[in-house]
Amino acid sequence: MASFKAVRIDKTDTGSQAAYVDFDEADLMEGDVTLRVTHSTVNYKDGLAITGKSPVVRRFPMIPGVDLAGTVETSANPEFKPGDQVVLNGWGVGEMHLGGYAQRARVKGDWLVPLPAGLTPAQAMAIGTAGYTAMLALMALEKHGITPAMGPAIVTGAAGGVGSVAVAILKHAGYHVIASTGRPEEADYLHGLGADEIMTRQDFEGPVRPLMKERWAAGIDSVGSLTLAHVLAQTRVRGAIAACGLAQGMDLPTSVAPFILRGVCLLGVESVTCPKPLRLEAWARLAKELDRAKLASMTTTIPFDRVIDAARDIVQGKIRGRFVVEIP
Ligand code: NDP
Repeated sequence: MASFKAVRIDKTDTGSQAAYVDFDEADLMEGDVTLRVTHSTVNYKDGLAITGKSPVVRRFPMIPGVDLAGTVETSANPEFKPGDQVVLNGWGVGEMHLGGYAQRARVKGDWLVPLPAGLTPAQAMAIGTAGYTAMLALMALEKHGITPAMGPAIVTGAAGGVGSVAVAILKHAGYHVIASTGRPEEADYLHGLGADEIMTRQDFEGPVRPLMKERWAAGIDSVGSLTLAHVLAQTRVRGAIAACGLAQGMDLPTSVAPFILRGVCLLGVESVTCPKPLRLEAWARLAKELDRAKLASMTTTIPFDRVIDAARDIVQGKIRGRFVVEIP
């Protein structure tokens, strides 16, 4: 029986356990496209899956990895043929459907997008769900009518994956970018990506008043909790914040004051089931607008046998920017 190398998460008496295994091809799940996976990446959610810190895995055994890039081997889907290069983000892959930390994947063709023109598979994974979500957040702000002329944009969790891409694309869009980080030693890195000002995480630690001094008109928040509450209280009249993450926590200890007294809007960003036309638009814009030198500066490439360690590191906030996983 043919097998391939994969990371597999199994349920245990005390939770779950991730290990490198030889996975039986016959155990791949249903799908109309089979892929040779060449690259994957490490997102915060992959860290949650591998450490078991949050119950993101809803089927065992599971191959984690919410992102993959690869080449079509066989396809019963009219949109794809053998040899096509494709990218997959989300759709429950790595949570409910066997994911990207494997040499092979079998998935629904409807979940795939063609590798965007001008990007290599490695660059697409350097962007990954984190970067594609940052672009969805920028698109949400634009759709709401926010422009750089209205004022600066804040990025929280700036040295992380979503944050790093957000800093670069907001700068490209013409914003004065304020990067908030718990790692002030990454100031040079963030300035290199386009940050005009750096704030520390401590700036968002004190008690939140319903309204505070107006500072920014836009924001991309991947942190949630008290940080997002501070960000909202300091958003200018008619500004908007796109919220996509919970690195600090899922709670939001805010009041209605920013919404009803300043007309501030909180825009939710969800990448997993995002409809295909929006995905294609986000990827096309990333291919065009994300500076390749900046992308390279935020990318670390790791071999397949380091992915479990990297997933443990990301939930401890130890990873800077984006990781690309080379699948052998
Ligand atoms: P990363 O770990 O790369 O980035 C998160 C960053 O948040 C860290 O680098 C750190 O930045 C900051 N941070 C971490 N812990 C804390 C804390 N306790 N308090 C304040 N700040 C903290 O993760 P990703 O960029 O991959 O993902 C970020 C978030 O976005 C996650 O919650 C993830 O689940 C979510 N997400 C949601 C998506 C969606 O569809 N809605 C899609 C993709 C991601 P720094 O060191 O600069 O302070």
